[in-house]
Amino acid sequence: MNNDARKALQEVFGERVSFDYDEALLYSHDLATLPDQVNLLLRTIPEAVVLPESREEIARLVRIAKAHRIPIVPRGAGSGGYGGAVPVNGGIVLDLSYMREIIEIDKENLLAKVQPGVVWKELDRELNKTGLSLRVYPTSAPSATVGGWVAQGGWGVGSLAYGSVVDNIESIEYVDGKGEIISVDSRDEIELVAECEGITGIITEVTLKIKPYESVTPIVAQFPSAEAMESAIREVIPETQPYTINFATPEFVALKQEAMNHWEIDDKYTAMFAFEGEDETKVERTGNIVKKYLGEVLDEEVSEFEWNERFYPMRLKRLGPSVVPGEAIIPVERISEFLNAVEKDLRGYTIGIEGWVTGENSASVLAFFLDDERDFRFGMSFGKSMMILSLARKFGGKPYSTGLWLSHEAENYFGKDRLRKIMDYKKRSDPAGILNPGKILPAKIPKFPIIKMSTMMKLSSPFMKIGGKLAGKR
Ligand SMILES: Cc1cc2nc3c(=O)[nH]c(=O)nc-3n(C[C@H](O)[C@H](O)[C@H](O)COP(=O)(O)OP(=O)(O)OC[C@H]3O[C@@H](n4cnc5c(N)ncnc54)[C@H](O)[C@@H]3O)c2cc1C
Repeated sequence: MNNDARKALQEVFGERVSFDYDEALLYSHDLATLPDQVNLLLRTIPEAVVLPESREEIARLVRIAKAHRIPIVPRGAGSGGYGGAVPVNGGIVLDLSYMREIIEIDKENLLAKVQPGVVWKELDRELNKTGLSLRVYPTSAPSATVGGWVAQGGWGVGSLAYGSVVDNIESIEYVDGKGEIISVDSRDEIELVAECEGITGIITEVTLKIKPYESVTPIVAQFPSAEAMESAIREVIPETQPYTINFATPEFVALKQEAMNHWEIDDKYTAMFAFEGEDETKVERTGNIVKKYLGEVLDEEVSEFEWNERFYPMRLKRLGPSVVPGEAIIPVERISEFLNAVEKDLRGYTIGIEGWVTGENSASVLAFFLDDERDFRFGMSFGKSMMILSLARKFGGKPYSTGLWLSHEAENYFGKDRLRKIMDYKKRSDPAGILNPGKILPAKIPKFPIIKMSTMMKLSSPFMKIGGKLAGKR
């Protein structure tokens, strides 16, 4: 970055811009631990970090960056694991954590307008004070930001009843790659920005659909097999329309309890069905379905404890000390086949899987391989993630997200038509290509500009699977 650009940034942001190397280092990764080999290929350390306080400052920043052709990488809490908030070619990281105002809660129309840096759990707490609540939220709600999840896209608690995060957006305001502030409220326009990881615009405001507050009644049940658990889930969905359903493998249950040193339930296939309000009939019908599949409903206290644990799927990381995650979306009707295949094909790995039912016939599955980044083979462990995706594919699965690592999967994720619309809009709205390069749309590898990141990942996928195996079982 040249001196003119530095000076311009200092004029706008004063003390809220940093060029300090040590600080920049903190912004060079997201949740995932990167193998050193990746750091060697990319320029993950930004040259500047800025903390804007308003949409106008962001618009000025974009104009400076455009004039000097400097990439901008927006960042919420950095809780994503797909490299979305990681620079590929240095540039400026835009940390949105200072923009955390809840602008308006509209009780009548059940809408909440917020700045992007608002943390999901804090927003829910504020809504609860006025008798309202979020419809959906990620299990990373204690730290993840509204802008981050809207930009990343995904499903979470409540998605079975209310859809994905994108389904819960009423309108979005963002700054495009030309520095213009734009507001949109039609589904088509929202989809050009939401889930697009900041490549088409920096989100500056979101209006979310919310709901009246209702207590949640959780029921935790354990089953003798993956088939029994899947059958119960499939019957409970149409019969009792739960708010959300979570499930876990025996190994996940065991690892999490071991990490907490808190043993309360058996290591069996476990499902948690949660309902809005206190509907005795739904509870009873769910109990009957559980029994029909030879399952056992655990007592209320245990169910309450497990419900409160929904925010902490990664407790098992303590046993790692690292975890390598692998994630996919699969049809609900193939959950047991997928879990049985993982058990058979990946026997010997220490791997816990939990999942959320995200729709009538779709579920997200998240596998955690315990690993150790201090081990010299850790560089190959990344391939373990690919083993999960390729197994999921055998059962009609698809990638959960794209980010940097899976940009070669963008077409599978978005579908041909939507991806084309996003690419067309990107060309028009960010002609200099400065907004979060390398995410969703393939990046060139800065140190080897003739190779694209997506090509490298595509070509290396089979090798990564082998790499996952070479990285070893533990
Ligand atoms: C314990 C745990 C549980 C999780 N549970 C879920 C879950 O239930 N469902 C789920 O889908 N994911 C989940 N995740 C993944 C992740 O937390 C979510 O995707 C999350 O919402 C990202 O929010 P963030 O603020 O951390 O965003 P970041 O990781 O900082 O950014 C995510 C992406 O959005 C972009 N971005 C950030 N802010 C903006 C902005 N204002 N404008 C434009 N682009 C922006 C970034 O560049 C990046 O591409 C979980 C992660 C963890 C660690």
